Amino acid sequence: EKSMRLDRLLGNMGLGTRKDIKEMARQGRVFVNGTPVRDTSIHVTPSTDLVEVDGERVVYREHIYLMMNKPAGLVSATEDAREETVVSLLEPEDQAFNPFPVGRLDKDTEGLLILTNDGQLTHELLSPKRHVPKTYYAKVLGEVNDSDVEAFSEGVTLDDGYECLPGELTILQRDEPYSQIELTIFEGKFHQVKRMFEAVGKKVIYLQRIRMGALELDNDLPTGTYRELTDEELQLLR
Ligand code: URA
Repeated sequence: EKSMRLDRLLGNMGLGTRKDIKEMARQGRVFVNGTPVRDTSIHVTPSTDLVEVDGERVVYREHIYLMMNKPAGLVSATEDAREETVVSLLEPEDQAFNPFPVGRLDKDTEGLLILTNDGQLTHELLSPKRHVPKTYYAKVLGEVNDSDVEAFSEGVTLDDGYECLPGELTILQRDEPYSQIELTIFEGKFHQVKRMFEAVGKKVIYLQRIRMGALELDNDLPTGTYRELTDEELQLLR
């Protein structure tokens, strides 16, 4: 079984900085297997050692899996020199896990964004070989028509010459000044949905991701909020 430094374990679980944790231990608030510890650099085995702070058991887990309904205006990154990031929406105890967004949504795109510190799952979801489907809802200026559906199903060519895999375009409502559509794509090129519509001479004016693999955006999750994935949802992604 893997062991780790006590201060790292407590830090990862959101109990404070290394310095805070040292101070808590100095105050006699940190116990390992029933014994108070002063030295927070000791190694513990999370699965077998009983770690307590202020009389409460600290249950360690390595990974966190969050579903965010991303709002427009934030960038999908952990850090950015200029812009506010999606990670800034997370509570400090969730930030302590160092989660990162699984793939990117544009600053002005809303909807389903998974954040996790599980690199393996991230890799599986983003691997180009897997073609994990991603479904978007969009408002598109002008009337989206059947020839667009056909063009997308054959694979449109982007401005840089890239030939897209076939995408599944469904017209929800054709109207002026804009149409509403759902589009499922099986890859993730930069600005792909917007550029696919540009390829057929149309402009996306609103974009929201509603599904990734078998995982759907929770309609009850207000824009700009997030929650942990349920076990069932996590299974859907694996
Ligand atoms: N395609 C886009 O153009 N933007 C996104 O944010 C996601 C897919």
